Amino acid sequence: MCIRVHRKTRELTTFSELNLAAPILKALAAEGYETPTPIQAQAIPPLLAGHDLLGIAQTGTGKTAAFALPILDRLARDRRPLRPRTCRALILSPTRELASQIADSIRAYGKNLRVAVTVVVGGVSAGPQSRALQAGVDVLVATPGRLVDHMGMRNIDLRQTEVFVLDEADQMLDLGFIHAIRKVVAALPPKRQNLFFSATMPSTIGSLAAELLTDPVKVSVTPVATTAERVEQRIIFAEGAEKRALLVKLLGDASLERVLAFTRTKHGADKVTKYLEDAGISAAAIHGNKSQPQRERALASFKSGRTRVLVATDIAARGIDVDAVSHVINVDLPNVPESYVHRIGRTARAGATGIAISFCDREERAFLRDIERVTRQTIPTTDAAGNPVERPAQTSGAGRGPDRSGQARQGQNRNGQNRNGQNRNGEFRGGPARGEQNRGGQHPAGRGQRDQGRNGNGQGHGHGSSRSAGNPAAGGPAALVRDHAGGSGGGKPGSNAGNWRRRARRPSAQG
Ligand code: AMP
Repeated sequence: MCIRVHRKTRELTTFSELNLAAPILKALAAEGYETPTPIQAQAIPPLLAGHDLLGIAQTGTGKTAAFALPILDRLARDRRPLRPRTCRALILSPTRELASQIADSIRAYGKNLRVAVTVVVGGVSAGPQSRALQAGVDVLVATPGRLVDHMGMRNIDLRQTEVFVLDEADQMLDLGFIHAIRKVVAALPPKRQNLFFSATMPSTIGSLAAELLTDPVKVSVTPVATTAERVEQRIIFAEGAEKRALLVKLLGDASLERVLAFTRTKHGADKVTKYLEDAGISAAAIHGNKSQPQRERALASFKSGRTRVLVATDIAARGIDVDAVSHVINVDLPNVPESYVHRIGRTARAGATGIAISFCDREERAFLRDIERVTRQTIPTTDAAGNPVERPAQTSGAGRGPDRSGQARQGQNRNGQNRNGQNRNGEFRGGPARGEQNRGGQHPAGRGQRDQGRNGNGQGHGHGSSRSAGNPAAGGPAALVRDHAGGSGGGKPGSNAGNWRRRARRPSAQG
């Protein structure tokens, strides 16, 4: 695969310089978007010129608009009546939440165009989706399993598809969607524009990209480690049982306005939610055992401010785009460092800075070490009031045996990711969710509710292990730091070309 790195001598600073169709510019102005984000500035021109694109970027960089705007521009300039059972652009997303979010964004950016956008995801009735597909759509946003189901029912014929976007490819593979993706790709016409986004670029993702893309332009932005830099972080040492009381204590501070709390397990999320409710704090849980309507209600209530604390597991939280999360609190530390970066990135959306407080118990010290190594920082340790304190001395064996064996007992991390998933150089091997799915013989693509990973609800089994951490040598977190595409390419929001912001927040889309 020949990859051309797209460098601009001068960052495009306005959307009108990108030559997008006028109705789109109007919608962007209404959204309050003033300046293209680095990925938008770099990706939109080659995409408008028809190139394939390999984008290394995570959520929070503005990547949705980076692919959505050129698609809308194509639709605006070349209007065609809908053809039954076809779509002009197909976007594959790993989770339902992200799919809805993408569709909401496309509707917002395309509100001055008449664009038919349909979401096809698992966990909800297929009937309305079938009807929408029968009529034909301009933009189809889908999770792979449900799309394959519709293909099987002949509700959709992908041969007319002009643009194909694979979003969060690394997450897709972690969730075991590779077979479904291949089926979808086989149904696409050979002549099409391909866009491929992934937060990490381990070799498996690289090979998939090489298969799908033709002479792509490569754009790499917002290295994961810089997300961490934008967030004020601290660690509070607390043992398991003390954590919930500590959370309530912290929430005594009114500045913790809108808090996203993470637990490693679904059960943990429920327990924390109940504890908070019992303490009179409005809280809701979002995880894979919740039905889609329950998840949507929880999210809507959190977005509107009615719920102060949303308690989430990693995969459930993927793609959740909530503005103004004041604090992320890790009630449990994730066992995969990248999940930590993704979690805390929820409080640094759209160039904002945020605060992340992580509770760490004796058994999580190894996770903390991994997080600090990958993010190349030492996170300050404080007491509940935020005063710096010494880290408690590590008792022998702490953070090695008990946590991982405990996890195995609880079935949380059976493939021993992290220490066991690392070689001596600290490089990471494959993602736990994928390994689990394969070993369990429960490949999502082979199940009824294929969109949803192992347990039929978008929640992989490996709590906190939502993705392969990526091998730094192969383009994982560390490599991204070193390797981003030049000054403009690697700009983090808030720096350089990263001075992107919007004037006023648009009303939150209701999941
Ligand atoms: P994404 O990475 O696509 O999930 O986008 C992250 C957030 O940035 C979303 O809330 C977008 O609405 C917002 N956003 C995207 N592009 C811009 C922009 N050019 N200016 C301001 N906000 C943006």
